[in-house]
Amino acid sequence: MKVQTPLMQVEKLSVEFGNKVRAVRDVDLTVYEGETLGLVGESGCGKSTLGKAMLRVIEPSSGAIRYRGLNITDLRGTVLRSTRAELQMVFQDPFGSLNPRRKVADIVAEPLLRARGADKKTARETALDLLDLVGLGREAGERRPHEFSGGQRQRIGIARALAPGPRFVVADEPVSALDVSIQAQVINLLADLTRDRELTMLFISHDLGVVRHVADRVAVMYLGEIIEIASRDAFFAAPAHPYSEALLSSVPQLSQEPRERIVLEGELPDPAAPPPGCTYHTRCRYAVDKCRTTPPPLAEVQPGRSVRCHLPLIAITERPNA
Ligand code: SF4
Ligand code: MG
Repeated sequence: MKVQTPLMQVEKLSVEFGNKVRAVRDVDLTVYEGETLGLVGESGCGKSTLGKAMLRVIEPSSGAIRYRGLNITDLRGTVLRSTRAELQMVFQDPFGSLNPRRKVADIVAEPLLRARGADKKTARETALDLLDLVGLGREAGERRPHEFSGGQRQRIGIARALAPGPRFVVADEPVSALDVSIQAQVINLLADLTRDRELTMLFISHDLGVVRHVADRVAVMYLGEIIEIASRDAFFAAPAHPYSEALLSSVPQLSQEPRERIVLEGELPDPAAPPPGCTYHTRCRYAVDKCRTTPPPLAEVQPGRSVRCHLPLIAITERPNA
């Protein structure tokens, strides 16, 4: 087995918004060098907030962020800027994040100028090379964002993220805004780049079908907490958390018996007032009394697999009210 080196780690990380909503609650999570970790969950569960906090785009309210062993939680000024060069983000809506008035070459060169202090000529050359690499050609640099389709704009967004030579990339729903016919192309591009450039990636998506294609491991979030983390194969073979089971039941199975479709009851509870005990108990079909009062810890149930549940699905054979 390959030795795993932690590249990005968060410890007891919380992000609170002004109204005391804890969007991310005491998260411990490690992303290992070279892996793609898929982060899944319903919209509003805190995935994007966690991804942005890792990059110090959003300030955590407590906890620590370690990048290559260095505590970057309180970095400021030039040290933060140079560290940021290695930590980049690909956004869901590339158009919203591309300045419509600037030429594409300038947009892609910008983070290289800002984060690495590169000279203009070098930055421009790098930008044009990257536009070529992502399949748009160097001539794309002279055009403006509105001249491109959605998929092409996401390629521009990817080129921009790669410009400063990152080691860690957070891709936040990078294909959700694209036509299904285009999604596979952009996913394959990201997968190729991740491999060729030895990138480590946090791939945020609500789409488990997409995550299955790109992720080595999968982490599931619910109401600001990680509720399951497992290897991709273990996760898709047999979910261990009841919420994972419900999410997975809606993903078409390729070569297996169709799963029973579990309809999630009710809405995601208000993150400002999470239910007591296990926060999933209001929607869980296996909930017992203990679940309503005692929060379960995130506990290892198999090597490399942790679950936040009193009654993980893979560890027991008989369930009280199943
Ligand atoms: Fe369901 Fe209880 Fe497990 Fe929570 S702890 S997921 S309510 S069985
Ligand atoms: Mg989001």
